[in-house]
Amino acid sequence: MEQGLVARGLGKRFPGVVALKGVDFELLPGRVHALVGANGAGKSTLIKILSGYYPSYQGEVWVDGRPVRLVRPDLAFRHGIEVVHQEVDTALVPGLSVAENLFLERLAGGGTGVWVSPRRLLGEAGAALERLGFALDPAARVEDLSLHQKQLLVIARAMLRELRYLILDEPTAALSLTEAERLLELVNRLRGQGIGVLYVTHRLAEVERIADQVTVLREGTRVAYWERPFALAAIVEAMLGAPPGAIFPPRRPEPGETILSARGLFRPPRVQGVDLTLRRGEVVALTGLAGAGKTELLRLLFGADRPEAGEIRLLGRPVRLASPTAAVRLGIYLVPEERRRQGLILDKPVRENLSLPFLKRFARFLGWLDRDAERGFAKQQIQRVRLSPPDPERPVRLLSGGNQQKVVVGRWLGGLPRVLLFDEPTQGVDVGAKRELYRLARESAKGAAVLWATAEIDEALGVADRVLVMRDGRVVAAFPTEEADRQRVLAYATGAEA
Ligand code: ADP
Ligand code: MG
Repeated sequence: MEQGLVARGLGKRFPGVVALKGVDFELLPGRVHALVGANGAGKSTLIKILSGYYPSYQGEVWVDGRPVRLVRPDLAFRHGIEVVHQEVDTALVPGLSVAENLFLERLAGGGTGVWVSPRRLLGEAGAALERLGFALDPAARVEDLSLHQKQLLVIARAMLRELRYLILDEPTAALSLTEAERLLELVNRLRGQGIGVLYVTHRLAEVERIADQVTVLREGTRVAYWERPFALAAIVEAMLGAPPGAIFPPRRPEPGETILSARGLFRPPRVQGVDLTLRRGEVVALTGLAGAGKTELLRLLFGADRPEAGEIRLLGRPVRLASPTAAVRLGIYLVPEERRRQGLILDKPVRENLSLPFLKRFARFLGWLDRDAERGFAKQQIQRVRLSPPDPERPVRLLSGGNQQKVVVGRWLGGLPRVLLFDEPTQGVDVGAKRELYRLARESAKGAAVLWATAEIDEALGVADRVLVMRDGRVVAAFPTEEADRQRVLAYATGAEA
């Protein structure tokens, strides 16, 4: 009997869109198969079919040699297929404990109707979790668990059933680095136990680390498939449908007048005396290892922290940036690293997030808002950043990470920036959205000075006209991008070259 979860010619259409077109996919026991693609490529549609989410689809699926129709979730379970969705909560009952969720089927009756004492349930759950090696408290309530703990719970529950094929949909997207690390270790362990893992991600570093195979989807079609070892550049090219070089817009190094300059900026321990000059029309990258002081420097330029010494000039005049509000008033804007915690109100629609800092502009009298003007502005900015979907009324929460980031950029572009500061804006963003953000940086530079902080040297070299390298709170090197190469930048960033 041929082992594996095998799909041939999978297809799915929705009104107006073919989400998946004749896709082949194969998941083998004891293998990790990564599924990658830009937003809208069809990844979720594919895994929803395999998890029994859609009552109808085109194509055929075999599990371990047997043909199956996965038209209901319980049919997928029965074949040992389990999914951890991004919205992991949907698989759990919030009012119940970890133990109760773990044995949900049994509690629901499972046909036996036997009452299980809560104490016995806790004991059994504790023993099972320990055997599986999961650090979860069986008595904890599900609503008190972190996202990562909820993922673990769903995986543990699957392991107590006959788990054979595990599907993970961007499991590390919202995890901390340590949690992500632990999750990857767990995936490794499951592979070692003979479980096949379908791993959806847009982080190519994870593909390189854990995948045995990778399939690339683009616009609903399988465009590439490789087995280890992978060439990441080829994966990017397949995702985009263009050579990776094309991800960066052409340079336009025609710097105009100096917009912002800083001398001797000092705020220990992370900023130890920085001079810099930013000119109109120029994209300057600020690179360096994590902890080199990039974010802290940006915070000084944005008025989020005050320097202990040093001076900032805007268009030649010294300015005191007492707060971000003061910076925004002067046309200095920041696209922050953690868009979820800073800058966006997730439950509010795109329109309100775009107009938020400029409400005065739309205020008529006595606090009335000119809704038409606000809507017009939102529409214009949505077009400019090519938001997808282009819906001003969509709550920001429902947008992909890349599109949330575009809302932040769109907002600031609407404010006629003089200085745009980007702090790791492409972190956790798929490669299609990255390309859009690079384009937007270039577009912003038409009227403003752009400073783009990134720990990724290739990104710094691709996006910028000039590269500043920071180490231990100082700018230790500055090159025009044409004269910088990866090795040289890395040498300065690490201190190998002083
Ligand atoms: P990915 O997970 O790779 O981002 P999806 O599988 O979610 O992509 O989406 C593929 C395409 O199908 C997109 O164009 C998306 O808008 C569309 N789509 C997905 N689900 C639905 C649905 N329920 N109704 C209509 N269109 C959908
Ligand atoms: Mg998806």
